[in-house]
Amino acid sequence: MHIDHIVPLSAGGLTAEANLCLACALCNRSKHQHQEGIDPETGSEAPLFHPRRQVWKDHFAWDVDWVMIEPRSLTGRVTIARLKLNDTPYRLARPFWKQGGWHPPGA
Ligand SMILES: [Zn+2]
Repeated sequence: MHIDHIVPLSAGGLTAEANLCLACALCNRSKHQHQEGIDPETGSEAPLFHPRRQVWKDHFAWDVDWVMIEPRSLTGRVTIARLKLNDTPYRLARPFWKQGGWHPPGA
């Protein structure tokens, strides 16, 4: 896991607990310096999910197979798109993670 600055250092974010979260390498690379994403439904820009200020279940849900993350809000849509949360590496890995007992998170 990587330690991500939710507000990037380049945007004035601090290296302080309130601005840090754990992210896997793929998510961290996709987020890069972004704080916003593009809504695939409207093309408009909106803030990404804030893991310290927002609640995951308000913005995301798992599909019945625990493979795909479904958006429950605009924040969910832009975050799934920006972080590529349903791209091929995740879709292929999640069934194996489930078999290994590492997925879904918090279960
Ligand atoms: Zn990730």
